[in-house]
Amino acid sequence: MSNYTILSVSDLRKYFTTAEGVVRAVDGVSFNVKHGETLALVGESGSGKTTTGHVIMGFYPPDGGKIIYKGAYELSIPMKKRPLELKRDIQIVFQDPGTSLNPKRLVKDIISLPLLVHRIVDKRRVYEKVAELLEYVGLSEEYMFRYPHELGGGEKQLVAIARALAPNPSFIILDESTSALDVSSQAKVLNTLVKIQNELKLTYLLITHDLGVVRNISQRVMIMYLGKIYEEAPTEEFFKLPMHPYTQMLLSSIPTLSEEDEKIKPRGIESVGEIPSAVKPPSGCRFHTRCPFAKQICMEKDPPDIIVNNNHIVRCWLYE
Ligand code: SF4
Repeated sequence: MSNYTILSVSDLRKYFTTAEGVVRAVDGVSFNVKHGETLALVGESGSGKTTTGHVIMGFYPPDGGKIIYKGAYELSIPMKKRPLELKRDIQIVFQDPGTSLNPKRLVKDIISLPLLVHRIVDKRRVYEKVAELLEYVGLSEEYMFRYPHELGGGEKQLVAIARALAPNPSFIILDESTSALDVSSQAKVLNTLVKIQNELKLTYLLITHDLGVVRNISQRVMIMYLGKIYEEAPTEEFFKLPMHPYTQMLLSSIPTLSEEDEKIKPRGIESVGEIPSAVKPPSGCRFHTRCPFAKQICMEKDPPDIIVNNNHIVRCWLYE
């Protein structure tokens, strides 16, 4: 990881109008991503984490705020209006490779498409490059002649990763990329992601609800709840010293594999209730309807960013 900020997000907002009202999916989110790191964006379903990733990708424009990439590109513009070099440089790997890979195309054609669109190799060398990419993610050349439905879940995801690598990106959004996999396929895909990151100096934004994955591959963690970020910390400190009651609630509800882990698990914060609707988010601290420590001010005022140390930030009135 370097000190160079590859992506800077400030006061990002994304709202959707629905029959029930306006959903404030992302409501004032700010963060930086350093070149070469894996930054995890964690939250329950409905927290806004996936929407944040999709706005960065340009799937839909933001309703406010700024996203600056490599200090030069403003990412508020939709994907189709972005310059080709920007489309090439930022890639995404989705949760379900079964739907993200075209079922009617052979693997060789799925991976060769971005190679040709972005003119990465000469047409005559394209299948040679496809074979190289497959080998790079741990699949043999024979996979070129298979259809997605002939592959297992982990294999499909490795093909999706090879396709994402094809245009030589610098930044990859991993959108719950291992959530649908069984434990052994997940381990294989995670190991591959770590290997290629180290070798190619890639930067990952890891969008997930799985704290086990976060612990394995990220260097920093942000916790998102109802469209806002409530805690941000280096991964090691995050697991040793979780400060926000919501973070503690999430950590206390994950199963642990060892006695060591069981000992450091936060106690006394049970997982209570469901995430409220983002159409009418609770006033003040949005977690107050589920927080066992809520006090009057929590219901009235949104807590400010409280800097615990240089790298650890928490938004909670308990630490004011
Ligand atoms: Fe709980 Fe209040 Fe902290 Fe929110 S600000 S997490 S309601 S103590």
